[in-house]
Amino acid sequence: MNSLRFLGAADVVTGSKHLLTWDDHRVLVDCGLFQGQRQWRERNWQDLPVPVQEIEAVVLTHAHLDHTGYLPRLERQGFGGPVYASEGTAELCAVVLPDSGRLQEEDAAFHNRAKSSRHTPALPLYTEQDALNTLKLLRPVALEQPTSVAPGISLRFHRAAHILGSCFADFQVGSGAATRRIVFTGDLGRLKQGSAQTLSSGPSRVNSGAPVDYLVMESTYGNREHPDVDPTPAMAAAVNAALQRGGSVVIPAFAVERTQKLLFLLKQMMVAGQIPQVPIHIDSPMAIKAIDIFLEHTGEFNEPTQALIRKFGSPHQWQDVYFDQTPQQSKAINNVQRCIIISSSGMAAGGRVLHHLANRLPDPRNLVFFVGYQSPGTLGQLIKDGKNPVLIHKQPVPVRAQIAAFEQFSDHADADEILTWLRTFSQAPRCTYLVHGEPDSAAALAARIEKELGWNVQPAHWLQEVPLE
Ligand SMILES: [Zn+2]
Repeated sequence: MNSLRFLGAADVVTGSKHLLTWDDHRVLVDCGLFQGQRQWRERNWQDLPVPVQEIEAVVLTHAHLDHTGYLPRLERQGFGGPVYASEGTAELCAVVLPDSGRLQEEDAAFHNRAKSSRHTPALPLYTEQDALNTLKLLRPVALEQPTSVAPGISLRFHRAAHILGSCFADFQVGSGAATRRIVFTGDLGRLKQGSAQTLSSGPSRVNSGAPVDYLVMESTYGNREHPDVDPTPAMAAAVNAALQRGGSVVIPAFAVERTQKLLFLLKQMMVAGQIPQVPIHIDSPMAIKAIDIFLEHTGEFNEPTQALIRKFGSPHQWQDVYFDQTPQQSKAINNVQRCIIISSSGMAAGGRVLHHLANRLPDPRNLVFFVGYQSPGTLGQLIKDGKNPVLIHKQPVPVRAQIAAFEQFSDHADADEILTWLRTFSQAPRCTYLVHGEPDSAAALAARIEKELGWNVQPAHWLQEVPLE
């Protein structure tokens, strides 16, 4: 049977994995980690419900871990086929995946020392070495270039404008009258260019060529609109208040791109006198490499961002910016007062930011602010929604620090923007499946698409298989 099967990011935002089967050939689109609630994270430890040997290729839409972070696990289960990605995504994966393996080893070692895991010994999902093995499978392909990924399955990437290197995966399958076009959006970038945006243009249109037969569409912000106001004044006020109290600022942020954006924004705010010059700690082992990739791909950024890069040059040269690579350097930040700490993961779902939150949340002088989507069940969402105390490494931690969130930094199109993009389609797909959204969000977007466009649309469910006709 020709089909699509949703192995992740269905009923939930993380774990993107979609299996495309055509004439008995199988291609996995994205290979992401589940993050957030334990019921989802435990799925990372289960083998896929399809024999790994039957998957001929993997196609990655972009480098975020919820789209790539399961790859080393797949490789360990015996997958040895090619992994197709844009050049930017492949370069970022070379930074993100080994870092993910290293952090999982650090976390397992921490749990074993603290005896805070239900498992003895606590094991990493995969190691840095597993991730390095996986990188050998990456096959970078140029945008808009048709590439055969399996017999009868051809891929073209179009720019999705979500993060550096992000693409839609546009497949042509079959031949003659039975040819079908199947598009996976991955994560769709912003159409409006707000003050917190950095990419040069919105997502590509897919209205050239044959009509799209099936669309697999993300729905993260399917029930919301992003605020349009410039976040800088409110951010400056919150940061100033915390520093005046003698406190510090902790910002959980994706280590790739979001961290670099924030770094340039904070630099600009310091130079403009909006906030004082205080030390900035980038507590992420991969930040240096990611900055180099960011600076190599400046062509993807919009003019204001390029102007900032021309003006301030490489953050490696800036004074009072510290890249903390080793666990010892990370721990030493505990002794620094009146500083800004940017650390991953962005949803506080793991990684070094947990240690900073455990250390700084109990002090009311401090400020913790969020700059991205917080998936339900993640520590980030619990803190943002006012839970107090929160559990970090199984220990209750009182939340006395000031908590703030700035939605403007989102790299996802909101509901209006998604509808605007869908209106560029030359005709309605036979069916649109909504993935990568919480159930409320997917349902709200499905209702709007049905009502406003009259399309056949369904939220996808985990492990559901749908026929392609
Ligand atoms: Zn993403």
